[in-house]
Amino acid sequence: MTSHLAQGFLRPRSVIPGLLRAGTRSFLLPNPCHGTRRASHYTPTSGQQTPQGRYWAKIPRWEDASVDTFLAHKWQMSNSVHTLPALSDLMRSVLPETIPPQRPSPRGQNEYPGISTPEDLIRSFEVAAQKAPMAFRLSPHILSVIDWTDPLNDPVRRQFIPLESVINVTHPAATLDPVHEVDHSPARGVIHRYPNKALFMATSICPVYCRFCFRSYTVGTETETVKKMRFLPLMKQWEPKFEYIERTPSLHDIVISGGDTYLLEPEQIAYLGDRLLAIPHIKRFRFATKGLGVSPSRLLDPNDSWIDTVIGLSKKGRKMGKEVCVHTHINNKQETSWITRQGTQRLYEEGVIVRNQSVLLNGVNNTFDQLSELVHTLSDMHIEPYYVYQGDVIRGAEDLRTPLSDSHELELQIRDQTAGFLIPRFVYDVPGLAGKRPTLSAQNYDRKLGVANFTAPRLQGQYVKYWDPLWSLSEDAQKEVQSYFADRSSDQAAHQMAAAA
Ligand code: SF4
Repeated sequence: MTSHLAQGFLRPRSVIPGLLRAGTRSFLLPNPCHGTRRASHYTPTSGQQTPQGRYWAKIPRWEDASVDTFLAHKWQMSNSVHTLPALSDLMRSVLPETIPPQRPSPRGQNEYPGISTPEDLIRSFEVAAQKAPMAFRLSPHILSVIDWTDPLNDPVRRQFIPLESVINVTHPAATLDPVHEVDHSPARGVIHRYPNKALFMATSICPVYCRFCFRSYTVGTETETVKKMRFLPLMKQWEPKFEYIERTPSLHDIVISGGDTYLLEPEQIAYLGDRLLAIPHIKRFRFATKGLGVSPSRLLDPNDSWIDTVIGLSKKGRKMGKEVCVHTHINNKQETSWITRQGTQRLYEEGVIVRNQSVLLNGVNNTFDQLSELVHTLSDMHIEPYYVYQGDVIRGAEDLRTPLSDSHELELQIRDQTAGFLIPRFVYDVPGLAGKRPTLSAQNYDRKLGVANFTAPRLQGQYVKYWDPLWSLSEDAQKEVQSYFADRSSDQAAHQMAAAA
C-alpha cells in the first residue's frame, strides 16, 4: 500500500489551484550535512490567493502577523500558549458574547451544562486545568483553526482544552499508561512490546498536548495531579537506548517518538537517523510527529531545516534499501490548512512516505461524515490513512472516548465508500504484548455493559477487556460497571490483607 503512494500512483490533487501554476515551486540547494536547504520556501500566499489566507488574523493578537512571520517555526514556538492567564486572555479576546449551546447529540449527551457566556467557559476551563492529567499547550496554528464562535461544538477545541464538567468523569479502569508501556521497558526510554519493533522515546515534550494522550504518564510538563516520567531530548541520554537496539538483533523496526520528534533540532534528527541507519539489523524507522497537523509552519520555514533533514535521511535510507518515513496524527480535517497541504506536497514530491494514525474521538471524528472527510483529506495530501485507533481508557478524557460499536459501524461504512488501499485499519492497541488488534476481532462484546474481550496468540489464552465510555451506557449499566470494579478492588484489598497477615 505504501509503495503505491511512494511510487506516485495517486494524482497530486492537493495542490492549491492557481498557486503552483502562478508560482515559485520550491527549489533546492545542496546542504553539506543532510538533505537540502530551500531558497524559496512556499508558493505565493498573499491573502486571497489561498483558500484560507491569513487564517490566524481572526486572533486579535496576530491580526497583523504576515505570512512570513506565521511560517517562522521560532515564532510559532514563542507564541505557543501554555499558561492559564495567557489562554484565558486569548479566549476573552475571541469568544462571542453568547456561547452557542452544545448541539443535541443522537445519544442525548449534555456535556456542558451552565455554559452560556465567555466567563462561564473560561472559569470552567480554569477549574479543569487544575485537575487534568495533561498540561495544556496550544500552537498558534491550532488556536487559529478552532472555531471560537462555537467552542462547545468545535472538534479541535475538544481535543486540547478541557472543561470542568467532563474532566470530573473517570472510568474506574482508567489509568495514565493504558497500554502498559512501563512494564515493557528494557532500557530507560525504550519500549519493546513487539518481537521485532521497539519505540525510542527521544523526548517527552510536544508542540501541543492532547487531552487523550495515551502516554499521560510521561508526556508534557507536570500538572497539579500528575508527576511525569521525563525524557529530555539530550543526545547523551539516548546512548543507553542505542546500545539496547544495537545489541538486540531481533529488532528491525524503530519508532522514534516520545513526545514529538517535531521539537527535535535538525541536528538531533540527523544524529538519530544516521545512528539507526548504521545498525545493520534495523531495516525501517519512522519519525512520529503531530507537527504536520498542529504546527505545519516548520515544513515551509526557509530558515529551518527539519523537513530537509528528514528528506535527506529518507533518500539516504532508500539508497541503503531501508525505509525512513513519517507517521503523523491528524484527527479532523479542520486541523489542516493550506500550510499543511503545501508542506505535505513537498514531502510527496521528495518521495517521503507519510502515514497517519488517528484516534477515534467522540465529537471529533466519530461520525461517518467527519471520518470520511478526514480519510479523503489525508488521501489527497498523499498521507496514508493508516490507523484509526480505539481511544485508550485514559484518565481525564472519558468524554472523548467512543464505544467500540462506533469503530465497528464506521469501518463498515468507510469500507463502502473508499478505495481499498485508502481504508484505515480500525484497531485497539491491546495493553501488553497483544499489539494492535482489529476492533472487529473482539472475541465477544456485551454492548449493554460496554465490555469486549480481546485475545492474541502471544496472550496464550488470556483475555484483555476493553471498556466503553460510561456516557455511552444506560444508568443501570453504569452502576453495574462501577460495582464490578468496587468488588474487584475489595477483593484485591482482601488479598493484600491476607498476604500481609
Ligand atoms: S502529540 Fe502524541 S505524544 Fe504528544 S500529547 Fe498528543 S498524543 Fe501525546
